[in-house]
This record gives sequence, C-alpha cells and structure tokens, in this order.
Amino acid sequence: MNKKDIKSFTFDELKIEMEGIGEKSFRAKQIYEWLHVKLVDSFEEMTNLSKGLRERMEAVYRIPSVSMLERQISKIDGTNKFLFQLEDGHVVESVLMRYKHGNSVCISSQVGCRMGCKFCASTIGGLERNLLPSEMLGEIYQIQKISGERVSNIVIMGTGEPLDNYDNFVRFIRLLTDENGLNISQRNVTVSTCGIVPNMKRLAEEKLQITLALSLHGSTQEKRKTLMPVANKYELSEVLEACDYYFEKTGRRITFEYSLVHGVNDRDEDANELIGILKPRNCHLNLIPVNPIKERNFEKPSRKSAENFKNKLEKSGINVTIRREMGSDIDGACGQLRRRYVETK
Ligand code: SAH
Repeated sequence: MNKKDIKSFTFDELKIEMEGIGEKSFRAKQIYEWLHVKLVDSFEEMTNLSKGLRERMEAVYRIPSVSMLERQISKIDGTNKFLFQLEDGHVVESVLMRYKHGNSVCISSQVGCRMGCKFCASTIGGLERNLLPSEMLGEIYQIQKISGERVSNIVIMGTGEPLDNYDNFVRFIRLLTDENGLNISQRNVTVSTCGIVPNMKRLAEEKLQITLALSLHGSTQEKRKTLMPVANKYELSEVLEACDYYFEKTGRRITFEYSLVHGVNDRDEDANELIGILKPRNCHLNLIPVNPIKERNFEKPSRKSAENFKNKLEKSGINVTIRREMGSDIDGACGQLRRRYVETK
C-alpha cells in the first residue's frame, strides 16, 4: 500500500484522517503540533501518543524525509547554503540569509526546472520532479532546527518554477502560514515566477497576502524571448496584465526582478523601455547583476554601470534596489550547489 504523506495534510484534513482510523479528533492537534511546531521527523518522537497508536500510524502514513547532506557557511556575511537529500535520493538546495530585520530562507519548489531560462543553472538538467508540500516545509523546518534560529521570512526563489507545481505550492503556503503550525506571516512570504499567466491569475484568487515577484529580465516581448523560453508561450502584455490583476485582487504591490546581463539588457534603451513598463504601476524593481554560471558566458555589468542603470530608473520615480549579493564565497547562484553535486555523481 502506498503510505499517505501525513505532513502535507492541513489541520482540518488531519482531523478527518484521525477520525478515519478511529481516533478522537484532538489527536490531530497533538500530531499537527509534533509535525509543524516541534518539527519532529518520526512517529517515534511523538511521545504523548501510545506505542500502539504510533505503530498504527506508521503502517498507514509516512513523513517524507529531508536530510542535510552539506552545509556551507559564508565567512563574509554568515549566509548558509544547504544541500538536502530527499527520500528517493534527489537533492535540493536552500539558503539561509541573515538580515537586520530577521532570518530569511530561500527554498526550492522542484527538483530541477523545465523553464529553460538562459542564465539559470537550475534548469540545465531539466525537471526531475515536483516537490511535495511537506518537502518544501522540510527545507525550512530543517534549517530552523539545524541553525537553532527562528525564521521569519520565506522566499520561494530557489530551484524550480513554483507556479509549475501549483497545487503543491499553494498547499505549502497554507501549511506554512497556518496559525497551528509555524505561523509565518503571509506578508513575509514572496513567490517568484517566470510568468505562467493562468496560474498567476489563479493565485490572485486564492485570497493570500503573499508578495508576487515576476521575473521580467527583458523590456520587450522580443528581448524577453531571447532569455526566457516561457515568453514564447505568454506575451509580455499578458504577463503584465496578470500582474495588474494580482495587485487588483490582493492589494499587494508587485516586485519585478530584472537580472542585468552585460551588453544584453543593460543599455540605456533597455532602461527607457523598462521605465515605460514600470512607471504606470505600483511596484518595486529588484535588479540582480547576473551571477555568471560556467555553462554560459553571460557577464555581469560593472558595479558602476549597474548603479547608472539604477539611477536612471530612480530619477523617473521608480522604486528600485540592486539585490545585495549574499554568500559570494560559497556556491552562490541559484542551483549551483546542486549542480556541482549532480555532476560529481
Ligand atoms: N522560477 C522562478 C524562481 C527562479 S530563481 C522564477 O523564474 O522567477 C529567482 C530569480 O533569480 C529569478 O528572477 C531568476 O530569473 C533569477 N536568476 C536565476 N539564475 C540567475 C543568475 N545566474 N543570475 C541572476 N539571476 C538569476
């Protein structure tokens, strides 16, 4: 029999499950607390349940494991990069960043990715599989346990396209922000998408207060197409409409992400076109000097040239930041730690 993943059930679903195996529904509260507050990894650790019940649960349910294989700690800024192994042997990476306002964790949403963005290391081997809600939670829970520090902000910006794993992703958000669990504030969660239009609209309808970040990277449909294959499927105008719809439905200001690639999308003309897109919108722009990966020969602009680009946008009244580079002395860019591991296998 295929055992059910107990950690991906919502609190209400868990109550029904417990009734289903002839237990009182208050058991659900105890078990949910073990899984999502005390963060245990096995039924054995649930010491206020009788041995008999634990054995019965073991026969029906499983807790998908997420275990640490490697941890790198930056000497520059204390950023931690983790490589986790899943039950079937696949590996994913996650990052803990320490900011003045609290700890932020960046998680992966898939093993690999099928979106094919040209500058991104995560997509090189294609998509292996989707992560379960419990596995996405597992990345965060393990980091909290290993570091012994409370995590307050979550960004879904690691390997994978979260909106290509829509149902698991939304369930993960509900579990993560449930008051009976870790109870992370929805406003402290940001999800980044390459722009899967129908699912951006669906997400707008979910009544969540999370921030949506759109990976823009090109200021016209044509330019976007050269960097992001997903643009062959959805026109820039449609993607922007979906952003507007998200803002309209949720009241949450959109973040646009723009990876600056030297000589490709960092010219004056690009800045002017970007201003045209962003000026009419209530939004924030995050510039990411591209993190070069060995598989491609993209270069990042000089610090000065990135500053000039930023200043030009700022002068037009656009809210813009250059993303601070974290952990540049450890396998920095998205997906590089996992790639190194996969390549040496
Ligand atoms: N699939 C999601 C999350 C990707 S990672 C998305 O496409 O938004 C988060 C951001 O980092 C995205 O904007 C992505 O395009 C960008 N990114 C990926 N690799 C990068 C690199 N080597 N240098 C700079 N930005 C990169």
